[in-house]
Amino acid sequence: MPQSYIDEFTPDIKFRTPGISILNDNLIKDKKVEVSVLRLDNMHPDISGNKIFKLFYFLEEAKKSAHKTIITFGGAYSNHLAATSFACKLLGIRCIAFIRGEKPKRFSHTLLFCEKQGMQLEFLSRTLYKNAIDVSFLHSLKVKYGQHILIPEGGFSIEGARGASLITHFFKNKPFTHICVAIGTATTFAGIVNGSESYSEIMGFCVLKNMSDINDRLKQLEVNGKRHFSVISDYHFGGYAKKTIELISFINTFYENNSIPLDFVYTGKMMFGVYDLIEKNYFPQGSKILCIHTGGLQGNESLPDGMLVF
Ligand SMILES: *Cc1c(COP(=O)(O)O)cnc(C)c1O
Repeated sequence: MPQSYIDEFTPDIKFRTPGISILNDNLIKDKKVEVSVLRLDNMHPDISGNKIFKLFYFLEEAKKSAHKTIITFGGAYSNHLAATSFACKLLGIRCIAFIRGEKPKRFSHTLLFCEKQGMQLEFLSRTLYKNAIDVSFLHSLKVKYGQHILIPEGGFSIEGARGASLITHFFKNKPFTHICVAIGTATTFAGIVNGSESYSEIMGFCVLKNMSDINDRLKQLEVNGKRHFSVISDYHFGGYAKKTIELISFINTFYENNSIPLDFVYTGKMMFGVYDLIEKNYFPQGSKILCIHTGGLQGNESLPDGMLVF
């Protein structure tokens, strides 16, 4: 179903079916486990990963509406904004984004990309941005932009999680014992938990430090509490978008061994965590582990040239 579903929804966006790559590092062989990677990063050169899935139901609604306007929020390096701008351009949807922080003198790679897709960028000071969910702000949007569909920052919403559930169609009925995914807002994780087979343990790797509100978030996203899932918080490397030499060197070695590029904000941290847990015998022998590559490679553009080998 997924490929035809995607083709039907996005006749203008040519997506490739994400393949599944099988890894064979020595560690994996030594510990007698199997590790596969679902390559959502491979679906499209400009828009890839989990974001298009989280947007799915919002875009579907916007396409049907008379006004065809989307308003959303994010930071200057946001994969969510990059994906939203690209999808809206292709689907002919007007899109306005509120960016956290004052307008910078030099735009980030991400903001330049968004602007090129025709996204209207509005900058809000950090204080205003924090309050951008209050009733008077939301009312002002209606006055200024008319009827629109609002997508919360990072797509954090039940609709977003429902969209992320579509990802599970790519591994339906496959006998994976563990499914691993990075956690930012937890929307994708929630969708994967709800959509996966009940025999798999779903493991979420937090990329933020001290995600003390995670249980609250999972509740808001209506995660099925009967499913077997775990939240792992030991691999944030200092916090959101923080990095260490150890992380960068892991990403480079991983690329040299497997020819799979990872991003340093999300998938690099998840994969580091998976390898570390394999090393520590978290996974019983014979485990079949699926890691979801959620894309996000455009985020690596913010790193100094030459830091990554790819
Ligand atoms: C946004 C993002 C995530 C996290 O998704 P959430 O639904 O916010 O938890 C994971 N990986 C990549 C590459 C992302 O861009």
